[in-house]
Amino acid sequence: MATLFVSDLHLSAARPDKLELFRAFAARAATCADALYILGDLFEVWIGDDDDDATHRLVLEALAALSASGVTVGFMPGNRDFLCGAAFAARSGVNLLPDFAIIELAGERAVLTHGDLLCTQDLKYQRFRRIVRNPLLQRGFLATPLGWRRRIASGTQSRTRASMARKPEHIMDVEPAAVCTVLREHDATLLIHGHTHRPGLHEIVVDGQHCRRLVLGDWYEQDDVAIHADGTLTRLRIAEFLAP
Ligand code: MN
Repeated sequence: MATLFVSDLHLSAARPDKLELFRAFAARAATCADALYILGDLFEVWIGDDDDDATHRLVLEALAALSASGVTVGFMPGNRDFLCGAAFAARSGVNLLPDFAIIELAGERAVLTHGDLLCTQDLKYQRFRRIVRNPLLQRGFLATPLGWRRRIASGTQSRTRASMARKPEHIMDVEPAAVCTVLREHDATLLIHGHTHRPGLHEIVVDGQHCRRLVLGDWYEQDDVAIHADGTLTRLRIAEFLAP
């Protein structure tokens, strides 16, 4: 049996082909995986568990069927869907994971994270993150009408796009020192994250110990899934994963 990892699918009504890909992926995962970890940004945006978006409903149905089939689904919110809450978890059957989360993979300790916490050079973003993750502010936001939240979310998205276009490349990548700190603090030798949309497997040495950092690709160009089976870690395109 296999453990699967995906992140940054950014599912929305704007990309119906990716919704279909996800539904096929979930159906296939039910037959070959014992666990699936979704490491954030499953949705392009999530403005509250009361959202009645039709695409979101189909994603939740696919997740519910997957967990009903016996696959453990762990969901860690990303910077687009951090408002996924208890009602979302109940309807989809996923387990909400904290950021950071620790799992064991064939005896190896692995840290899972969305990835934005590792981008410590981006001070402006980290400040924004602290504000929007404030529980009191979140409760206030969630109490406003859905239509208003939709408008706020689309305004935030266009501002985010504009500010990302202005930022130098290295600012939007993980800070190597933050990676070492996280591995050290969690006594882990494997770090798995998404967020940067720069997939790869990086070998690093932390305090003389050989460690790896696996970066998951997004579902724009890469349609990426990472698979841990029989002690080995591989990455596949979803089309390859689905191939008989
Ligand atoms: Mn992200």
